[in-house]
Amino acid sequence: MATIAENLQAVRARIGAARGVTLLAVSKGQGIERVKEASAAGQRAFGENYVQEALEKMDALPGLEWHLIGPLQSNKTRLAAERFAWVQSLDRLKIAQRLSDQRPAELPPLNVLIQVNASQETSKSGVALAQVEALAAAVAALPRLRLRGLMAIPEPGAPRERYREVKSLFDSLREKFAWDTLSMGMSDDLELAIAEGATLVRIGTAIFGQRARERSAA
Ligand SMILES: *Cc1c(COP(=O)(O)O)cnc(C)c1O
Repeated sequence: MATIAENLQAVRARIGAARGVTLLAVSKGQGIERVKEASAAGQRAFGENYVQEALEKMDALPGLEWHLIGPLQSNKTRLAAERFAWVQSLDRLKIAQRLSDQRPAELPPLNVLIQVNASQETSKSGVALAQVEALAAAVAALPRLRLRGLMAIPEPGAPRERYREVKSLFDSLREKFAWDTLSMGMSDDLELAIAEGATLVRIGTAIFGQRARERSAA
């Protein structure tokens, strides 16, 4: 079986010559040892879906950059504001206000992305494309947040058009809000997402293999 270092190298090769594309290693469901292995292989930015699960890893492995990429409930905003560098899953003004209020004064502003509903299915999380600009204007006015762009999770097998809709919304607001980050693309669609303009890809299984929970369920 390939090691995490080999997997990271393979993923970096898939990202290829694409310049300015950030690799976020999604470590949800993976133990501390595996995160440590990735960090020893030069990986610095990690994504987690659950605040509580992330805290253990942050405590064990200081000095890494942590991104929250899972849904955030209001009772978890304080921990998120105190411990993460980025929240990519912002989808409500109320959560944004809490994060801004709770971001400690000694830390730089919290980087945030608005999660858009790329699939336009009502069941999926994220903000409808038509509502992104209004939310962005309100979030951009909050003092302790730095709104960097958009995050999207096109459903598996989504047509290219889904990626293009997100990219075109991103482009239309990019200058107005000084955005630099479009987070789109996972293990199975990273090439497509980069071809369609992603600047950050969130990669779990292609680096770490199957997640523990999925391994034991299988
Ligand atoms: C789990 C997850 C990923 C990583 O998915 P892989 O298919 O394992 O690469 C990326 N983004 C989000 C929001 C996730 O929940």
